[in-house]
Amino acid sequence: MPELPEVETVRRYLAASLPGKSITAVDVQLPRLIRNRTAEDFAASLPGCTFTAVARRGKYLSLMLNSPWCLLVHLRMTGRLIYESDTTAPLPPYTRIVFTLNEGRLVYGDVRTFGCLWIVPAAGPTGISGYDSLGPDGLSEDFTADYLWQQVHGSRRLIKALLLDQTCLAGLGNIYADEALFLAGIRPSRRCSRVTRKESQRLYEAIRTVLTEGLENGGTTVFNFIDGSGKEGKNQENLRVYGREGQPCPVCGATIVYKKQGGRGTHYCPVCQK
Ligand SMILES: [Zn+2]
Repeated sequence: MPELPEVETVRRYLAASLPGKSITAVDVQLPRLIRNRTAEDFAASLPGCTFTAVARRGKYLSLMLNSPWCLLVHLRMTGRLIYESDTTAPLPPYTRIVFTLNEGRLVYGDVRTFGCLWIVPAAGPTGISGYDSLGPDGLSEDFTADYLWQQVHGSRRLIKALLLDQTCLAGLGNIYADEALFLAGIRPSRRCSRVTRKESQRLYEAIRTVLTEGLENGGTTVFNFIDGSGKEGKNQENLRVYGREGQPCPVCGATIVYKKQGGRGTHYCPVCQK
């Protein structure tokens, strides 16, 4: 699933191509992707609107329009938003929604079709609980070392479960949570209440580091992430533990362990992470 760096990579691409372009027609080929409107209403309400900006919170993208409404998108597992200037080329495989623009087109493609699109108010609560309850974004100024410590301190939860909880911190998923815990030297199964303030500080810095690295590398392509122009990310070459079970730890050489924790595959070094 795309996490913060991948969604931000898509946001930057769309922010460079969409603003100023107007929607002239919408073709919804898979109506169930539209979550809070009928497909007919969705397709009828957008033509005439012009994109003004593209924003992101956690793993959600907001395509802002010159309207009191905006288009909210969650790519889930395999959703893709691709801008194409050439509208005569065949549509990409797994195209589900086509937004015809006054210049080019915006194509929403999705192999596994878990993605979600909503039309929501551009300001204030959206009524989408997963969005309205988001904690601070992992790359925002609201996410501070003190904030993380407040969340960690005294909590009975496992540290990795806390990091994956989008109401606590928006944007981390399985890959970057495993990577951050490795850099911080904390085992994913440790209880938050047993994490010291110093370790929490290290974890905060590790989260910032892995998210920034992921972004600088254009995202991580483990499953099938591509950015808006169809390029794969390069961050998978930079991962330290995720997907490296059975391989030597890059720091101490011990064998990286893979375990299921809370239904999620978890990777860690049994020596470096305590
Ligand atoms: Zn190690």
